[in-house]
Amino acid sequence: MATLKSFRVPLTMSRLSKGLLAIRRKFQQLFPPSAQKITVFFDDETKPHLKPYTPYRSTTRECRIYNLRQWFRKHKAAVGDWVEVIVEETGYRLVFRKRSEEEAKHREELQKAETEEQAQEALRKLAQTQRRSLRKTALKELQRVAKQTWERKRVIVAPQERYEGLPASLRTLLKIVYEGRCQICGFTFLKRNGEPYFEVHHIDPAGGHQPQNLLVLCANCHAQMEHAEVTIERDAQGWVTAVIINGERRSVYQALNTSSPIATTVLALWVSSMLWHYTMLNRI
Ligand SMILES: [Zn+2]
Repeated sequence: MATLKSFRVPLTMSRLSKGLLAIRRKFQQLFPPSAQKITVFFDDETKPHLKPYTPYRSTTRECRIYNLRQWFRKHKAAVGDWVEVIVEETGYRLVFRKRSEEEAKHREELQKAETEEQAQEALRKLAQTQRRSLRKTALKELQRVAKQTWERKRVIVAPQERYEGLPASLRTLLKIVYEGRCQICGFTFLKRNGEPYFEVHHIDPAGGHQPQNLLVLCANCHAQMEHAEVTIERDAQGWVTAVIINGERRSVYQALNTSSPIATTVLALWVSSMLWHYTMLNRI
């Protein structure tokens, strides 16, 4: 049987006690224009029932389907539950929806979501069911699931994704030169083993490990460089002098002041050590 239209009717205490279903005026064109008995099917039943119907009146300010008390009782109807009204070719199908069951369904969807999009959608439906804002629903859910035990499964990440794939020698050089300090903000912290924490960013992901392509960064600046809108400024030798992150210009500290003769020597030493390293790597 083809479904022409469907809509939801929330159940309120006054309607429940009167055993009637209140239909909003905007749906009145889906019903007969005058008071009469209409054919109603309950839930997934095929047996038709004739129920009194009255169209919109200024006194009631709604359309009404009467004589549903028994059906409400069968479902232990409560405030917060609702009825889905499906307009079919041969009558009106009333499907009872228990809020608690709907909530459980959306909670399960939320728990089983494989992507953030799926989780967001499940949460949106849960919020709709509870007639709460998305944030309030999220807060309540967080509070609820905080009582559960969440086993953490170890996620194996391919090493090349986890690390920069940087040769240990180069990483060590950068560590010593910058003492682990972020070239953008200067932040670092000591790890439990006493070593400074830093990450190495490749400006051009396909650009190789040459030092002009690398920046020593803290986790925060690294994340910004990876995910934000970034423009790079370089000097004549190709060293990064500044980065513009989401429109905000940040100068980049370069330990190698390439304009001074001493620095040039250090740089030359560094580059030659790198060349030696790569030669050794190639031999292997
Ligand atoms: Zn930083």
